[in-house]
Amino acid sequence: KLYNEVIELKGNIRVFCRCRPLNQDEIANEATSVVEIVPSQEQELHVICADSSKKHFKFDHVFGPDADQEAVFAQTSPVITSVLDGYNVCIFAYGQTGTGKTFTMEGTPENRGVNYRTLEELFRIADQRSRTMRYELFVSMLEVYNERIRDLLIENSSEPSKKLEIKQGPEGMQEVPGLVEARVYGTDQVWELLKIGSRVRSVGSTNANEQSSRSHCLLRVTVKGENLVNGERAKSNLWLVDLAGSERVGRIEVEGERLKESQFINKSLSALGDVISALASKTAHVPYRNSKLTHMLQSSLGGDCKTLMFVQISPNAADFGETLCSLNFATRVR
Ligand code: ADP
Ligand code: MG
Repeated sequence: KLYNEVIELKGNIRVFCRCRPLNQDEIANEATSVVEIVPSQEQELHVICADSSKKHFKFDHVFGPDADQEAVFAQTSPVITSVLDGYNVCIFAYGQTGTGKTFTMEGTPENRGVNYRTLEELFRIADQRSRTMRYELFVSMLEVYNERIRDLLIENSSEPSKKLEIKQGPEGMQEVPGLVEARVYGTDQVWELLKIGSRVRSVGSTNANEQSSRSHCLLRVTVKGENLVNGERAKSNLWLVDLAGSERVGRIEVEGERLKESQFINKSLSALGDVISALASKTAHVPYRNSKLTHMLQSSLGGDCKTLMFVQISPNAADFGETLCSLNFATRVR
């Protein structure tokens, strides 16, 4: 089974849409919002076209500009905590640069995102279950840029970074030998690790934001659980993925390094779309091997794994084209 896996899916894919607020600049420039969300209809979203007609989209949940990090996490946590029951889970943030992918996943020190809240919740539940279950949690953080994998938990390494590759592990799980796996014991330590990761991610680029928009950032939480009653052991992975910006880059505008970057991004994002839509439509052949991203996530996508995609959009009329592209991508994977 080299290229395709036969899978059986039981409706384990969920898609959330999150629309950011108009920012200060947009408000100052009197930008108009083309995204319409009816608060009582939590699954629906309308996009207003130039001719005033509306396009309708439906998701498992829609978060409008006023939805805070807590509200978002409240809907997300059931998927996440199933990792403590032995399920592999993948969460993605997809969308155009500037729509809030990093805000949703990483957040800010005042408004912490899904990544930190996830670990906090895992520790809380693990503690609750401590009479019957013993859990060990490990964290890895890596970046995929131009189909190359970089460890984000190795700080100030003077030697050229090790070449990381994906290998098939003993239990058929994809592994990345040499990747740092930090055992974590508490939330303070997690916060420090996440800070290291995002600092390392921005090193070596003149513009941190620019660079991070062209790479995928993956946080992996590995949970090892032991049932103290019957001695059963399980290991599962939770992946939290801040994807590269999905915006299409005009061929004429870019050349050289930038062109290569955008080709790699297109390739891996469309590979991800292909995999998820194959899973959603219960197609027998799932093309995992078309990109590093999908290959690495292979054992956490499909089967009885749970997948959640955040489709991040901008309300600004100026972003109309990209917003429709993202919503259409989401519709395809649903
Ligand atoms: P991306 O990672 O998709 O490029 P960012 O997460 O960097 O986008 O978001 C761009 C800017 O918008 C940041 O300053 C971020 O803090 C802000 N932002 C994004 N989403 C929201 C939101 N829901 N509420 C408030 N500010 C947001
Ligand atoms: Mg970002």
